[in-house]
Amino acid sequence: MYSLAFSILFVSFIILTLIVRFWLASRHIRHVLAHRSAVPAEFAEKIPLAAHQKAADYTVARTKFGLLTLLVNTVVLVGFTLLGGLQWLSVEIFKLTGPGMLYQLALLAAFAAVSGIIDLPFDYYKQFGLEQRFGFNKMTPGLFFADMVKGLLLGAAIGLPLVWVMLTLMEKSGNLWWLYAWLVWSGFQLLMMVLFPTVIAPLFNKFTPLEDQSLKARIEGLMSRVGFASKGLFVMDGSKRSAHGNAYFSGFGANKRIVFFDTLLSRLQPQEIEAVLAHELGHFKLKHIIKRISMMFAISLAFLALLGYLKNQLWFYTGLGVDPLLLPGQGNDAMVLLLFMLVLPVFTFLFGPLTSISSRKHEFEADAFAAQHTDARDLVSALVKMYEDNASTLTPDPLHSAFYDSHPPASVRIRHLHAAAA
Ligand SMILES: [Zn+2]
Repeated sequence: MYSLAFSILFVSFIILTLIVRFWLASRHIRHVLAHRSAVPAEFAEKIPLAAHQKAADYTVARTKFGLLTLLVNTVVLVGFTLLGGLQWLSVEIFKLTGPGMLYQLALLAAFAAVSGIIDLPFDYYKQFGLEQRFGFNKMTPGLFFADMVKGLLLGAAIGLPLVWVMLTLMEKSGNLWWLYAWLVWSGFQLLMMVLFPTVIAPLFNKFTPLEDQSLKARIEGLMSRVGFASKGLFVMDGSKRSAHGNAYFSGFGANKRIVFFDTLLSRLQPQEIEAVLAHELGHFKLKHIIKRISMMFAISLAFLALLGYLKNQLWFYTGLGVDPLLLPGQGNDAMVLLLFMLVLPVFTFLFGPLTSISSRKHEFEADAFAAQHTDARDLVSALVKMYEDNASTLTPDPLHSAFYDSHPPASVRIRHLHAAAA
């Protein structure tokens, strides 16, 4: 009874999500195409029509591709759950391994393998079809597959021990397992924040200390003005994979570092780089990073508590096409982890705009911080270059943007910056 009700609820949310996403995407495409023929007046002097039209075409192509992957992912989700894919997979693996930890790890690995194989042609097309067509791809197929193998090995080396700890806690630590799991998960997240910039990212890219002495002096001047200590300013060879440019900030404590993509450095003037950096430092100084991490920890605690409840509800399994009683022996915790991971996004999708709102608020604050410590006009010209180089549309559908975008639309950001400069 509960089981059928849950299946119906699940299907309803899938349909609702599909409708909302298709509706937003079609609005976005129509809006971008309607503004394709002219550069918005405020950018007319800075961005050529050809670049504006390239951004429109790129946006439309990416949005359509997003819809295609959405459809495929939905079919895969229903296939794994209601159509019995996971049930079948678990029975087959059980025949090979028998009950126990090996069965559970094998189930998770098999699921990861099947989803990886389904995603592969889409990832490949995205890089060598879509990105290639717009001149952004700098990868060779050799590098693409080398990245994939490295990612797989890394995923197994990090993921399997983590999952093993989680499954052991689920089985052996009693009713409050989800609380211990949360502590482990939070510790793991913090550890990754240290390991990612220092160990993992260097497996994929080369990081060299920023060498340009006058730029370095300028940046160090800014850092001491705002009271920021960092071990390093690094340049990353992003051009190895893509022409897209970016700058980011990673690590925490004594480990924090600032990373510039070489693609970005080559395009911006020193004062523009300083302004972009001031924006990034703003995120740090205004405690956005700590706030985001605390929020993430609070949300994962709530979700793990929910999982602690769902784990013991038969309807959660049967409502999603899995019979946990079919397999003899105790414990099918890997299955509840999989089910939870698969269906959670279906139920949380409509809350996405809440994260976007808080993220955009932080972007405005970081822009204001940059305007305070550097010339706001430099950030404006850097933004315009970044929009042009990344073929990001200047005319997104407002509703689509409000729903998904972590950054405010360029025109709104620039209006705020001009106001700050005046
Ligand atoms: Zn930002």
